[in-house]
Amino acid sequence: MSISRDQVVSIHYTLTDDAGEVIDASTAGEPFAYLHGHGNLIPGLERELTGRNAGERLQVKVSPADGYGEYDGKLVQRVPRRALQGVPEVKLGMRLQAHTAEGPRTLTVTHLAGDMVTLDGNHPLAGRTLNFAVEIAAVRAATGEELAHGHVHGAGGHHH
Ligand code: ZN
Repeated sequence: MSISRDQVVSIHYTLTDDAGEVIDASTAGEPFAYLHGHGNLIPGLERELTGRNAGERLQVKVSPADGYGEYDGKLVQRVPRRALQGVPEVKLGMRLQAHTAEGPRTLTVTHLAGDMVTLDGNHPLAGRTLNFAVEIAAVRAATGEELAHGHVHGAGGHHH
């Protein structure tokens, strides 16, 4: 069965940056399962997996535009600490949920200087070229319930 929309695909993957540094990987012996064609993977990787079969291995290079987006300097802001009410201790690398005109957004604390806090609304992998080494472990048809929910149930998937 080759990979197409509405199938559950299980993959082993390792994600590295252009310097060869490992950013993320599936757990050893436990492939990551997702529902194909429902926006559960970044577009550049999902596109390359379409039409492939279980047992195949592939290397996929994903540009920022096909991954987590280009880095947008306009999403970076500096605010005084007192603007962060309800956050008892602001720390570097901390992630905060903010409500913006475009909906909820995760902001990362990227710099602290005196009373000023720098908040970055970009995804941590925005602007990065992503190199995936993928092995397709299994491909199966999704159940009706999985299609209704838009995600995978059972091993390697989402549990309720
Ligand atoms: Zn569900």
